[in-house]
Amino acid sequence: MTVIVVGAGISGLACAREILDAGIPVRVIERAPAVGGRLASVRIDGRIADVGAAYVTADDPAFLGRLQTWRIDGLAHPWTDTFRGQHGPGPMRWAAPGGLRSLAEDLARELQITLGTEVTELPEADAVVLAMPGPQALRIADLAPAREQSWLPSLAVVLTYPERVWADFHGAFVNDHPIVATICDDGDRRGDRAPVLVAHATPEFAADGDSSKLAAAVGEILGIDQTPRIAEFPWPYATPSPGPAGFARAGNVYLCGDAYGKPRVQTAWLSGRAVARAIVSEHRPSEH
Ligand SMILES: Cc1cc2nc3c(=O)[nH]c(=O)nc-3n(C[C@H](O)[C@H](O)[C@H](O)COP(=O)(O)OP(=O)(O)OC[C@H]3O[C@@H](n4cnc5c(N)ncnc54)[C@H](O)[C@@H]3O)c2cc1C
Repeated sequence: MTVIVVGAGISGLACAREILDAGIPVRVIERAPAVGGRLASVRIDGRIADVGAAYVTADDPAFLGRLQTWRIDGLAHPWTDTFRGQHGPGPMRWAAPGGLRSLAEDLARELQITLGTEVTELPEADAVVLAMPGPQALRIADLAPAREQSWLPSLAVVLTYPERVWADFHGAFVNDHPIVATICDDGDRRGDRAPVLVAHATPEFAADGDSSKLAAAVGEILGIDQTPRIAEFPWPYATPSPGPAGFARAGNVYLCGDAYGKPRVQTAWLSGRAVARAIVSEHRPSEH
C-alpha cells in the first residue's frame, strides 16, 4: 500500500514515524524548505531563536515519554513552570537547546521526505494524510471537517538588544494587553543568556502587523530603553479553536493536527499518531 503524508509539522512527522515503524512505506511532502512547521526555529546572526511554539508541555504519558527520550538524547530540557502573569501553578514548560525545530528534525530521521514541494491537489495513494491547519488543507481538497475549523493569527518578533538590561524572568503572559500576548526570554530559554526576547502579539494586533509597535510595547512593559533589532514572523494560522480529540476522515483522506484537542504541540503529536494507528490497523495484512 502507499501512504502519503502532506505536511512535515510535528503531526505529520509523528504520523509518518508511526506508520514507518509498523513496516508500511510512507512518503512525506512538505512545501517549506525545512521540517517543523510551527515548531519553528530560525538562525539570526548565527544564533537560534524559537519563533513559533514557545515551549512544549506534556500531560499525556506517551508524549511525556517522548519528551523524556529527547531529554536523554540532550535535545530537550525542562525549562520553567513559572511565568509572570500566570494564574496559579503552571505546567513544566520544556525548551530545546538547539531550538524546537530540532525535535521535528529528530522525528524526521529515516523518513522519506520531499521538501520545498507544495501539494495543490490530492495525491494518488491508498491513504492521504493532510497534517496541517484546515484552511491550508482546503487549498488541496474541499473537506467538510477542514471548513469547520476556525483559526486566529499571531505575529512573533525576535528582539535582539545590545545587552541584557531587564530584571531576570523566564517568560510572561501579558494579560489584557491590546498588543502583546506573551514575552519569552530566549537567552534564558536557550540557556546562553543572549540578550534576546521573543514576543507574540495578540490575535487582534497580529492582523494589523506592525512589528515596531509590538517591539515598543515590549520595551514599555519591561522598562527597556534600548532599541532592539527586530525580525518578524507572521503566522496567519497560529491557533485553532479547540476541537474534539483525534482526527477527521473523509474516505481515504485524513486530517490531523493541533485543531484536534487543546491547541498545542502535544495535541498535534497525538493527533498524527492516532491517524497512523487508524491507517495501520485498517491496512495491516491479516495474520493467519
Ligand atoms: C506563534 C505560535 C506560538 C505557539 N506557542 C506554542 C506553545 O508555546 N506551546 C505549544 O504547545 N504550542 C504552541 N503553538 C502551537 C504549536 O506550534 C502547534 O500546535 C504545532 O506545532 C502544530 O503542528 P502541526 O503539525 O499540527 O501543524 P504545522 O506545524 O502547522 O504543520 C503543517 C505543515 O504543513 C505544511 N503544509 C501546509 N500546506 C502544505 C501544502 N499544500 N503542501 C505541502 N506542505 C504543506 C506546512 O508548511 C507545515 O510545515 C504555537 C504556535 C504559534 C504559531
